[in-house]
Amino acid sequence: MSSNNKTILIVEDEPSLIFTLQDTLESEGYQVFVVSDGEKAIEKINEVEPDLMLLDLMLPGKSGYEICKEVRQLKYTFPVIMLTAKDQEVDKVTGLNIGADDYITKPFGVKELLARIQARLRRASSYSKSGPLEVLMLGDVKIDLKDSLVAKPDGTIHDLSTREVEMIHYLVQNANQPISRDELLEKVWRYEYSTNTRTVDVHISKLRAKIELNPDDPRYLVTLHGVGYMLKIN
Ligand code: CA
Repeated sequence: MSSNNKTILIVEDEPSLIFTLQDTLESEGYQVFVVSDGEKAIEKINEVEPDLMLLDLMLPGKSGYEICKEVRQLKYTFPVIMLTAKDQEVDKVTGLNIGADDYITKPFGVKELLARIQARLRRASSYSKSGPLEVLMLGDVKIDLKDSLVAKPDGTIHDLSTREVEMIHYLVQNANQPISRDELLEKVWRYEYSTNTRTVDVHISKLRAKIELNPDDPRYLVTLHGVGYMLKIN
């Protein structure tokens, strides 16, 4: 089990750099995914929903700029750190203008990169969890929205993804009211590319497995047939 539950997507096409990055990040406990083809980056992002992305500029298929721009158009808010070569100084400005959060110039030291990643992740989590609600109790299940963890009475701990935390916040804000799949798509997914109501169902069922004692017979996150879902809190 990873020690820090954050997912990092590396978009890079240089095999030796991929190897070093992946090795370093995994040894720090990050869950790492790699995509080398620019054309496939967005698809991968939708699939793994990273907490942070390391993005090379010069890629086959699609440039880092284009990818970054699309990511922001799709309303993804995770931090993007661009990996630029020394002769691309000018491009940094462009990168930051189109929604990258930071850049690091190749060749870079591992320590510096890790420090940048940690700094970005800290900021990102203070943004996404700045609501007043930090802990939610569903019966004996403790949902810690600040640390993105669920603790069950039998001692099992589940990590929550950024999206799941967001989903819980929305469900809590609208507790004891019916919420349609379309509403969840609009408010939580903001109609991102390639999502549909099936996406909502899949995420609800994953979330149930984490927060319900008996996911097949949910007590709190219930289905309202023909309507959608409801979080029942007394
Ligand atoms: Ca490259």
